[in-house]
Amino acid sequence: MEWDAELLIHAVVMRSGSSMNLHLVTHPVCLEHSAGFGHPERPERLEAILELLHQPQWKARIVWHEAPQATLEQLSRVHRPDYLELIKESSERGGARLDPDTVTNSASWQAALRAAGGAITAARLAVREREGAFAAIRPPGHHALADRAMGFCLINNVVVAAREALAWEGVERVLIVDWDVHHGNGTQALVEQDPSIRYVSMHQWPHYPGTGSEQERGVGNIWNVPRPGGLPPQDYVRDLSSAIEEATDGWRPDLILVSAGFDSMSLDPLAGFTLRAEDYTTLTVRLLDCGAPIAGVLEGGYSLDNLTSGVAAFLETLT
Ligand SMILES: [Zn+2]
Repeated sequence: MEWDAELLIHAVVMRSGSSMNLHLVTHPVCLEHSAGFGHPERPERLEAILELLHQPQWKARIVWHEAPQATLEQLSRVHRPDYLELIKESSERGGARLDPDTVTNSASWQAALRAAGGAITAARLAVREREGAFAAIRPPGHHALADRAMGFCLINNVVVAAREALAWEGVERVLIVDWDVHHGNGTQALVEQDPSIRYVSMHQWPHYPGTGSEQERGVGNIWNVPRPGGLPPQDYVRDLSSAIEEATDGWRPDLILVSAGFDSMSLDPLAGFTLRAEDYTTLTVRLLDCGAPIAGVLEGGYSLDNLTSGVAAFLETLT
């Protein structure tokens, strides 16, 4: 009940007449978080995505939702209270460096609350409406640990959403698929003891953050696909697809959350994978075959051209 009320308050009226909508969840404060001039995880990334999705061919199919703030209760299922207080305080002081790569400014705490709330709302919409949903938010989340910021990430948005979803009726199994080029060490650490969540990650290896070998299996709920850079794109698609197949063999997810990073595309400035926009179409079709609602949550991707073409291919397929 609480959820319906919240969605009604936050839904922005831009509904189209078509039957299959795409639910887009975002908040303007996500554009105000900045790690400083020259940092690759910059507001322009989200600006480019929003600009794309405001074009006429997209506008008609999208239902826009304002991301609510995640509550402290929701965040505390994943993060330690003293860590949450540290992010809040650093932001209220005007900003601080929490890790060599991870910096807050005065908007970061509010952006982090909306990013996590956006991920929850996207998951809720996917489950309730049985339509595709995407949280276009930042800061990203998959490196964030229970008590530590790292790799541009403050709150682990996708795990916050997974934990919340497991409290909903009809959601007993959540699959997280992470195609960001970096291993989601935070996601893995946060879910590796929880058999109700399965985590499949393909990532460049060896590469930042150094975790994600095939031997890291959690309680049998982790599938890591570490691969070198520079392989033909179809190899990455094939190997991630077969890991998804293994993870869902005899285990049907009730919700799929995609840690949607597009730094796995060719010529990303931070990595060496070679995926093209059409490869996310193939991967998304594979996920749709699982028959579960799908919500995407933005992670990395540092070439603006790649970001817009990758997001477009993913969202086009989701609708
Ligand atoms: Zn990444």
